[in-house]
Amino acid sequence: MKQENSGNQPSIADRFGEEHIESLLRELEARTSGHLIEGRWRTGSAGSTLITEDPATGRAIAEFAAGNADDIDRAVTAAETALRSGGWPLLTASQRAALLFALADRIEREVDQWALIEALDAGHTLTSIAGGDLPLGLRALRDNAGWATKVNGATAMQSACQSGANYYLREPVGVVGLITPWNAPFLMTIQKLSAALAAGCTVVVKPSELAPLSALRIGEACRKVGFPPGVINIVTGDGIAGAALARHPAVNMVSFTGSVDTGRSIIAAAADSNLKRTVLELGGKSPVIVFDDADLPRAAAAIASEICFKSGQYCAAGSRLFVQKTVYSIFIDLLGAEMARVRVGAGYRQDVDMGAMICERQRARAAAIVAEAIEQGARASAGGTPMPGAGYFFPPTILEGVDPGARAWREEIFAPVIAVTAFEDGAAPNAVAALANDSAYGLSAKVWTRDLRRAMEMVACLQAGQVIVNGGGGEATLPFGGTKLSGYGRENGLEGVSAFTEIKAVRLGYPP
Ligand code: NAD
Repeated sequence: MKQENSGNQPSIADRFGEEHIESLLRELEARTSGHLIEGRWRTGSAGSTLITEDPATGRAIAEFAAGNADDIDRAVTAAETALRSGGWPLLTASQRAALLFALADRIEREVDQWALIEALDAGHTLTSIAGGDLPLGLRALRDNAGWATKVNGATAMQSACQSGANYYLREPVGVVGLITPWNAPFLMTIQKLSAALAAGCTVVVKPSELAPLSALRIGEACRKVGFPPGVINIVTGDGIAGAALARHPAVNMVSFTGSVDTGRSIIAAAADSNLKRTVLELGGKSPVIVFDDADLPRAAAAIASEICFKSGQYCAAGSRLFVQKTVYSIFIDLLGAEMARVRVGAGYRQDVDMGAMICERQRARAAAIVAEAIEQGARASAGGTPMPGAGYFFPPTILEGVDPGARAWREEIFAPVIAVTAFEDGAAPNAVAALANDSAYGLSAKVWTRDLRRAMEMVACLQAGQVIVNGGGGEATLPFGGTKLSGYGRENGLEGVSAFTEIKAVRLGYPP
């Protein structure tokens, strides 16, 4: 699990001494962030605030405005004005792209600062942010900038004698609400924002109340880069602000990433208001299947690394592990050794592989689900109970013998906990896939085998928005999204940008 440092370059964690972290904390503590509305930072209409804390210590790090329906209304009005009569619709697609490329360049110049803010606010390791979320987010941003000039309508082929023309246009869907979670705040915000702007929409972003700092910083970077006022608005706050955005009648679409329950309430708000379009990226309980011919050491290292990435607070993490019977015990030993190597601590410190969970509520829920599984007969062969001391740390945990009806097997725990079972040696790929498909979720599925035919059969049979064979993580150029309770719609790539467009069909008749 140790992240190797190439050459003699100091690692990102080495570059941040105690002094640097303290000075950033003092800077954050010294101000209260407002909402970004019509290109200016404004205090919330009710004047109430919320606090975000460092999950590694529980220390409050910044105060920000608690938005309400009035703040959302002001932001939506600003976005509507920018969409209809501001400078935004006058820009060509290549000018919109140029602004997005400039935003990427600006973020890239200060990559260390962005990583530190995210590590403090969301609890993840500097190396995972600097090596994962940031490059992935920048790639999505630049890819989406590229799509701005390539998302087109089309003209149908016609016979030469037909009088007139039939074609269709793609137009921006309109004002879009972007509601994001806390587990990958930078990546989720930049991915949604860049796709919506590439399509010509204007946006109101509602970041998670548990980690809003990188979204606020994105807002400031957008201002500096020169986006016209009102194109990007940010209203901080909790579900009150989110719900107001979801039911606002002038919002044409909501792109949401978060929990299934909130996803359901967003669909209900859309139905009760203006039938706005919704794209929902929800939770997961992703299966990982290890066949006996797999590269077992490599598979064990990758599976341990993934379930510990963001302390297991990663929607696509493989959290139900199916291992072929003949290699089960050898594989569990390999996995246990990998989990034991994981160094847990504050994400912004040196020599740490896994940071804290986001808050006590999430950690207590994970601990309760694990304890319940153990009461029902499961065994924790690694970890199992919260770590003592300050901060919201939970150790890498392997659960064996989990009852298939237990919450630990069926529900998303969102913690570094993997539940393991064995499958029969003679089981055909479709039978193994059926075991994996026995879940309410369908976000991601992972397969480890050297047999190409078996791999292709598994790809065909697995019910998931994404199948990964023999390792690999997020890929900004591939559409990402789920099936079943994992939601619907896709982000990234042409599909991700097209989701923010509306089609207008035109029949143009020539006068006789
Ligand atoms: P959450 O649903 O509690 O909150 C997500 C966002 O919704 C926050 O900004 C929150 O303030 C807002 N919100 C809360 N109530 C609302 C309401 N009634 N109406 C509108 N907005 C409301 O989710 P979370 O705990 O922040 O995130 C964790 C969840 O996100 C996990 O289930 C995880 O799997 C999922 N997730 C999914 C993906 C994906 O791409 N599929 C990626 C990351 C996280």
